[in-house]
Amino acid sequence: MSSELKVKELIPLYTKEQLHERVVEMGKQISADYKDKKLCAVCILKGAIPFFSDLIRQIDNMDMTIDTLRASSYGSGTGSSGVVKFIKDVEQDVKGKDVLLIEDVVDTGLTMKEIVAHMYELGAASVKIAVCIDKHERREIDINVDYYAYELEQGFIVGYGLDLAERYRQLDGIYEVVLEGN
Ligand code: IMP
Ligand code: MG
Repeated sequence: MSSELKVKELIPLYTKEQLHERVVEMGKQISADYKDKKLCAVCILKGAIPFFSDLIRQIDNMDMTIDTLRASSYGSGTGSSGVVKFIKDVEQDVKGKDVLLIEDVVDTGLTMKEIVAHMYELGAASVKIAVCIDKHERREIDINVDYYAYELEQGFIVGYGLDLAERYRQLDGIYEVVLEGN
């Protein structure tokens, strides 16, 4: 399936500099909101790795801990499978902690809804969401994104952690994918 998706063009959408600028602003806001709180920043693997790594270094909170979680909702193409699988859970006890889930993109919202519910099941005191790209086109769930770098109405994007069939995650900007035949 994935090998049949032929990319015609990658159109630049957000540069490294634009992403950095927003990440700095988000870091300031999160630092203020979580002042004096036991913040546990959770990286949603793998897509959030670059964004998470940049964002946590802009957060001023000496009580912050970090963890990782992996859930999968997509196959290897550009469409949602609608099924969320937990592949790797957080390792620390999040009971009583203020959890900030850090994710690359919220699209349908299905993945995030499941992860938020899971964090509350584990006893988190609060759960908030920080995403790099808040995408609206296919939203199916009324989910509250607390922090975002950029909003996007439509399109399939890659780079800065985001992939198409596992490729392009290493790009330092974000690009819109144009497939052959489109
Ligand atoms: P959701 O459950 O539909 O919100 O899907 C979220 C997941 O789908 C993200 O963590 C991404 O891995 C993937 N995803 C959604 N839109 C895009 C995109 O435009 N490019 C790459 N991955 C995407
Ligand atoms: Mg992904």
